[in-house]
Amino acid sequence: YKEIRLILGDQLNAQHSWFEHKCDDVLYVIAELHQEMQYTQHHIQKVCAFFAAMARFAEALELAGHRVLHLTLDDTQDYDDLAHLLKTQVQRFNANTLSYQLPDEYRLYEQLRDLNLGADITLNAYDSEHFLLGFNELSDYFQADTHHTMEQFYRKMRRRFKVLMQGDKPLGERWNFDKENRNKLTQQDLTELPQPLCFDNDVRSIKERITRHKVSTIGQGSDTLLWPVSRKQAKQLLRYFCDHLLPCFGTFQDAMTCQSDSQWSLYHSRLSFALNSKMLHPMQVINEATSAYEQSDGAITLAQVEGFIRQILGWREYVRGIYWANMPKYSSLNTLEASSPLPEFFWHGKTNMACLSHAIGQSLDYAYAHHIQRLMITGNFCLLLGVDPDAVDAWYLGIYVDAIEWVEMPNTRGMSQFADGGIIATKPYSSGGNYINKMSDYCKHCHYNVREKVGKQACPFNSLYWHFMVRHRERFGNNHRIGMIYRNWDKQDKRQQQQVLERAQWCIDNVEKL
Ligand code: FAD
Ligand code: SF4
Repeated sequence: YKEIRLILGDQLNAQHSWFEHKCDDVLYVIAELHQEMQYTQHHIQKVCAFFAAMARFAEALELAGHRVLHLTLDDTQDYDDLAHLLKTQVQRFNANTLSYQLPDEYRLYEQLRDLNLGADITLNAYDSEHFLLGFNELSDYFQADTHHTMEQFYRKMRRRFKVLMQGDKPLGERWNFDKENRNKLTQQDLTELPQPLCFDNDVRSIKERITRHKVSTIGQGSDTLLWPVSRKQAKQLLRYFCDHLLPCFGTFQDAMTCQSDSQWSLYHSRLSFALNSKMLHPMQVINEATSAYEQSDGAITLAQVEGFIRQILGWREYVRGIYWANMPKYSSLNTLEASSPLPEFFWHGKTNMACLSHAIGQSLDYAYAHHIQRLMITGNFCLLLGVDPDAVDAWYLGIYVDAIEWVEMPNTRGMSQFADGGIIATKPYSSGGNYINKMSDYCKHCHYNVREKVGKQACPFNSLYWHFMVRHRERFGNNHRIGMIYRNWDKQDKRQQQQVLERAQWCIDNVEKL
């Protein structure tokens, strides 16, 4: 082979221009790497999903007439890292060119950038052709250390890609339908929740391999995997979403419940793995959702489809821009100087706090929690407690099936922990139990009382919230979006304030007992 083309595990993009022509001189290498098993501890379903999807992708390429070398953990165990593997393959096949698609994670980007294969080997880097913004365009939109408003970025993207537009005006004359979205689920709503579409991919041999190589994983995983591992399954999941979930997506986007064991993903699409592994292109998802809306005869409202498209055209591209504008510095930002350890119960879910127990338990069972569970339950708790953002990042990067650093880190370190000092959010996403009670039925099933701030039964979020606000008064006191909160605090009786702070301190000191 003259040329080796590397395909990383999250580059399963069958539409890439590489695959337009078949060439017997080109060998595609797709490999399960030990180094990728070690940079964090992954959920077993995440490892199975990536390995199974890589195997399917390799098969599909071969079937389409390309030359493919698919290597498993067994085949790559003697290589120290990616560079070692690539050097060996280039020599083995006597290739004169190594090509790769630009990785989305800084760690791999650096590794490939610094690759030294000798002067006679040509190195080519290609765009992954997955995102709506090409890699080289990112700097036109994002600058380092700068706050960029997601809403402004999103509007630019709507205009540029002509999504939900009527000329140069937004469809329906509004950019944002957030106010119509965000309902809590009533008892009646619960009876109508659809089942998630789950696949039953046989992953026995992958699990055996994981055990054989002593890869340490977290969470539960059976012999069959429910996540989509091929383009066909990914498309099925997208279709299912448009038919059954999109009509209520926006309405219940922020809702949470612990009363529906089998309907654990509510109206969310669960497309993040299919997107992040690049089995699906974001524009394909946007087009499918838009045409479902257009053909629905009003069954899908503009508020629902806009709420969904905002996540993909807006948030997803936005966090990637923030990541690349600020890496590698971003990974060590800790503006609030948080340094507490992550509570032990994040690894098993055993706590009396119903919200955390449910959100963590579900994450361990399915490698999935939806955005508000991640942001306002687990993320909010870590923020209030002051957990070291490195530990928070490591947990999020391992536990979710969709966790890849470019998207995990801005969401975790930035949006949820405010460790970036406001590059993403203008104020911290912090709340007491009230918000959780407003959006869920967790509090009804909890050992603690959401209406109390002090005393043994008081919801820990309530006092921790005030402890957090008081602790960071210097930073947030002048923020016009939250100044009001401090005025409320100042109006409270001094003794009451003292008791709240004492209860919070007890919670901090005894977090494992909560
Ligand atoms: P849906 O609710 O159906 O949304 C549709 C799609 O929109 C998602 O599949 C996703 O591609 C995109 N999307 C939605 N919100 C975001 C967002 N904030 N940033 C980027 N894309 C978004 N998402 C990841 O893909 N990987 C992560 O590792 C990840 N870590 C997160 C950590 C924290 C602390 C928080 C608060 C959010 C994180 N998110 C992450 C964003 C979001 O929670 C997930 O994308 C979403 O829950 C995936 O489920 P879904 O496919 O059912 O999403
Ligand atoms: Fe969570 Fe507090 Fe509600 Fe319990 S009472 S579920 S700890 S918010």
